[in-house]
Amino acid sequence: MTNFEKLAELLFPNITKTPDYYEELYPQRNLPEGARVSRFSPSPTGYLHFGGLYAATAAKLNSTATNGRFYLRIEDTDKKREVEGGVSAIVDGLNYFGITTDEGVCGENEEKGSYGPYTQSKRVEIYQTFAKSLVLQGMAYPCFCSAEALDEIRAAQEQEDIKGYYGKYAKCRDLSFEEIKANIEAGKAWTLRLKSPGSVDGKIKFEDLIKGKIEMAENVIDIVLLKTDGVPTYHFAHAVDDHLMRTTHVIRGDEWIASVPLHIQLFKVLGFRPVKYAHIAPILKEDNGGKRKLSKRKDPEAAVSYYIEQGFPKESVSEYIFTILNSNFEDWRRANKDADLSSFPFNLKKMSVSGALFDMVKLLDVSKNVISTMKAEKVFALSYEWAKAYHPQLASLYEKDTERATAILNIDRENKKPRKDIAKWNDIPDYISYMYDETFTPCYELNGNATPQLAADVLEKYMDAVNLSDDKDTWFARIKELCEPLGCTANVKEFKQNPDAFRGHVGDVSTIIRVALTGRTNTPDLYSITALLGEETVKARLKAALKYYKEEA
Ligand code: GLU
Repeated sequence: MTNFEKLAELLFPNITKTPDYYEELYPQRNLPEGARVSRFSPSPTGYLHFGGLYAATAAKLNSTATNGRFYLRIEDTDKKREVEGGVSAIVDGLNYFGITTDEGVCGENEEKGSYGPYTQSKRVEIYQTFAKSLVLQGMAYPCFCSAEALDEIRAAQEQEDIKGYYGKYAKCRDLSFEEIKANIEAGKAWTLRLKSPGSVDGKIKFEDLIKGKIEMAENVIDIVLLKTDGVPTYHFAHAVDDHLMRTTHVIRGDEWIASVPLHIQLFKVLGFRPVKYAHIAPILKEDNGGKRKLSKRKDPEAAVSYYIEQGFPKESVSEYIFTILNSNFEDWRRANKDADLSSFPFNLKKMSVSGALFDMVKLLDVSKNVISTMKAEKVFALSYEWAKAYHPQLASLYEKDTERATAILNIDRENKKPRKDIAKWNDIPDYISYMYDETFTPCYELNGNATPQLAADVLEKYMDAVNLSDDKDTWFARIKELCEPLGCTANVKEFKQNPDAFRGHVGDVSTIIRVALTGRTNTPDLYSITALLGEETVKARLKAALKYYKEEA
């Protein structure tokens, strides 16, 4: 037995498999030429960041556009970051926004696909098998340095350009087998370190699919592969997992870009074919005239759960994500108004290098557009679903008469220029509040030429004239008929030519009726509102308003 063989047995007595076993267990994928395999691999912190959803969308599109595979891997090697139910938060968040996976984790302790387990804590034996093989090749060694010893090294490196465990600082690199054995028999804790083959002057070049060609210094640090509990670091797990899961494209946050030289080195040392990298810059937000990262700590909208709670339909959020995902999306959308998002030719190379800007106003706008194209039945169904979870009062108003609720939501919908009042389901309670006596709050403020006296006069007459069985033209004709006897004109042009000759025009008369019935000066189609309010409510509200204006006048 060579010393490396003896060392490998000493460190990993229970590891009996070899890398070849896993290479066979997870064969090359049988996919068409050019198919890409990507993944989303968050830690189960119980929080799905908007940037995570954005990255997951990019990774999924990268796969689907090439008939590849997209999977979810859970990176739970850092138990400190894990929270109860953390996996569900991620899976549910992705599912809600339609980021479905071909394989991988699909619930707490649930997964699908033949390249698993897809949860890192269930793969420890696999990592250790590859770790053992590195020891056998003399490419990894145990390190017994305590936290204090590492602190001392750090302190001694103040003047060094390169900081870390390398060169003369790599105290355990050249321990003899006997020394190691004695340490282990003495029960000393150890980490396993890479024996980095890098040189201080070495450079590596690689092409990042988003950022372009990059040249960096080679890795010379003997980084930790396995921690003292035998669990891998992110770096080692990344190499082993993305190799064995046959990932072709690693799409991840650009906080990892500094580690690429190390990762490329790990792939080489392990004998793996390198993957392609695409590093996504963090989502930015304008703040105080500058830009900063969308922050979990400061911005509620950083959490994907925010959009669900506020009732943004997934269609809106997806549409918005596309607008910041690829610079040419909006042009494409103008040319393909009704096309499904899945037909957009997504391209990693068209992602922002410096960071996409998150803009809530734009999202609200996009969402209003998206909702304005939905049928009332869909608006009702989705907002009812939302209300059951987040707005019980709206849900119970809906339940009084679901057909009427749908009809309310249908006002000014499905015409050439549908109104764009609703950006998210939680806009609905206010938007329709006057349609229900329970939530109607009168407000008799007028605008234009309407005065309380004119209002009193108009309402007095309109009380008698209004007839809920009128069709729209007859209804409006009656309002026009009110004008002249009250000293107003039904002709706005005429009013403009000679404003002093009239008390107001038909617009003012309509406003008075609108305000009396809804408490607002701006609403969707008043005819439909009147019809849906029903005789009793219409009469009662007109009466109350008349009383108010009479007292005011
Ligand atoms: N678990 C890593 C993170 O949450 C994932 C990075 C990657 O996608 O490789 O940052």
